[in-house]
Amino acid sequence: MRPVRDAIRSMITTMVAETSSSSQPRVYLETYGCQMNIADSQTVIAILRRAGYATTEDAAQADVILLNTCAIREHAEDRVLGRLSDLARLKDTRAERKLGLLGCMAQHNRAALMKKAPWLDLVAGPDSYRRLPQLLADAALDPTVDVRLDRTETYADISPAYENSVRAYVTAMRGCDKFCAFCVVPYVRGRERSIPAADIVREVQQLAAREVKEVVLLGQTVNAYRYEQIRFGQLLRMVAAVDGIERVRFTSPHPSDMTSDLIETMAEEPKVQPYLHLPVQSGSDRILCAMGRGYTISQYLGLVGRLRSAIPDLALSTDIIVGFHGEEEQDFAATLGLMRTVGYDSAFMFKYSVREHTRASQLGDTVSDAEKGRRLREVISLQETISLERNRALLGSEYPVLVEGPARRGEGRLVGKTPQFKTAVFPATPSIRPGDIVRARVTSATAHSLVTTLV
Ligand code: SF4
Repeated sequence: MRPVRDAIRSMITTMVAETSSSSQPRVYLETYGCQMNIADSQTVIAILRRAGYATTEDAAQADVILLNTCAIREHAEDRVLGRLSDLARLKDTRAERKLGLLGCMAQHNRAALMKKAPWLDLVAGPDSYRRLPQLLADAALDPTVDVRLDRTETYADISPAYENSVRAYVTAMRGCDKFCAFCVVPYVRGRERSIPAADIVREVQQLAAREVKEVVLLGQTVNAYRYEQIRFGQLLRMVAAVDGIERVRFTSPHPSDMTSDLIETMAEEPKVQPYLHLPVQSGSDRILCAMGRGYTISQYLGLVGRLRSAIPDLALSTDIIVGFHGEEEQDFAATLGLMRTVGYDSAFMFKYSVREHTRASQLGDTVSDAEKGRRLREVISLQETISLERNRALLGSEYPVLVEGPARRGEGRLVGKTPQFKTAVFPATPSIRPGDIVRARVTSATAHSLVTTLV
């Protein structure tokens, strides 16, 4: 989940599968932001279906249009506002159609939003979804806002409306207590709350019964998970013990919570896959300190060393922010140096944008947008080179690939993931189905994928 807080990644839009009967009110939902938001949308759909709503993939057919949003970057907010004004036109054709904004942006900007988007009928934050049926009923009379944060809400008793896929993302904890200087997550998603391990295991058992093969445990700082005496390493072992689940992953961990016990679990438990998204954000101790990340580069590199010696085939990805307040040329050079030293398999890279209410918003923006753009191009270009080198080094190697389905480009090819979460494409054969694990040998590579043949 890219700095989803640490993990918020590129803007993703998802829509839920259609279910309808003529008498039911229909809801259309778009999701922006990270994997946590996608998981939240699946919870929203489960709540609304339970209240009698059907889902539609066509906004023009919907009685209720909802956007589940992301507040991590200014750009994301601008994009959502543009989309909202497009969708508002649909209200002109049917006045009783309701338009609502959910999620982090709703929580972050509720007052400004009602001014910028006066046609909104509903604004609801991430802890208000259980009340959505009532809020929508109230919105029939007047615009409704509910952005109360709730230290106890985990939606643990609600089984999300998962998509049909070989992989499912299961929320293990919500919120964050880290308060990094640049990040709105603790303000918009509230404090850390872990979901009872028994509820997570029950959810995973149900997914296994639906032939899901891979489970990704989610949380803003997922490895800070703690429910009663159960810590994250133990939760991983409990999930890995579920029959039918072949692979277990998690995202995003915080470097400070990567305990020896967790590293040992990753090394020992065969179902826990050798891939880790380990957000670093900057290669400069000075900037890390200003960001309040809670580690130094020497500590981070020590952790990378311990991980690689315990799990030699580990793939690593990261998040990098360029142009944070006070970032000088030497700080930026340190980030480039760190990228070369670690040799990440991939990275999510962003220009710093000031977010209201965060600690860093008091500091201001010292790097011009043009300079941030230059630094961003440079880190992207370096990462492309490193990713290509790392993927080319795999030529001739063989991997078990979990088959996902047809490749987006190239007729007659299938796509899947290696244990290291690298995308592998290979020729389709009639006997191979999504959910199968096939053995594939790497024959060529780009920075973003491996071309393979079946062995
Ligand atoms: S406050 Fe820090 S640790 Fe928490 S989600 Fe934001 S970036 Fe991640």
